[in-house]
Amino acid sequence: MSENYRTEYIMDELACPKCGHKHILKKYGTVNVTEKKKMKEKILKNELFAFRCEECGLHAPLTYDCLYVDHKKKLMIYLAPVMTGEVQERLDSLGAVKGGTKRLVDNINDLKEKIMIADNHLDDRVIELLKIMVINQIKEEMKDDNLVDILFDYSPGNLWFILFFEKKGMGRIPLSLENYRQIERQYRMGILDFSRDDFMKVDLEWAGRIMFRPN
Ligand SMILES: [Zn+2]
Repeated sequence: MSENYRTEYIMDELACPKCGHKHILKKYGTVNVTEKKKMKEKILKNELFAFRCEECGLHAPLTYDCLYVDHKKKLMIYLAPVMTGEVQERLDSLGAVKGGTKRLVDNINDLKEKIMIADNHLDDRVIELLKIMVINQIKEEMKDDNLVDILFDYSPGNLWFILFFEKKGMGRIPLSLENYRQIERQYRMGILDFSRDDFMKVDLEWAGRIMFRPN
């Protein structure tokens, strides 16, 4: 991976959607966390991709195009809330650099999840496959409720999935490394077959193509 991906931002003016107060804020085109370590914490704490109004107190997420780079982990994640021709061009030119892990996400929660998975030295492809197993396990619970999202999370020594249900709210299911390794082994070939060296969107849909592919 090239050393050229430096942290860069532009100053942008934004009016508060609630009170109209005008703000000047930094919008990052690239965040390089090897160069600026604190930026990772800022993303994880919802401080970077956020808008805070000093006038009325509104605090809201602010999503825009950004390339996240972690040289040490050879990881690049592109956050693109909306896919456009311009974004695709940038991805194509970034993807020309071979090697490393390249991912595409469309929201901040998914970006944070990918960062946390990498911090735990895990593979997001295996994590997405595991999510499908979890969803199968909780089919009973989903009979009169809807699963809105399922995300990886952790605290030191503990890994789990956080589940967000429409009616029941939040739930948590532990993730065992034994289970992780078993899925990693079981789907090793599928994972290889469905992986490309460009900005891949690795999500439930991606994992579903592996898990339910015809033999
Ligand atoms: Zn305001």
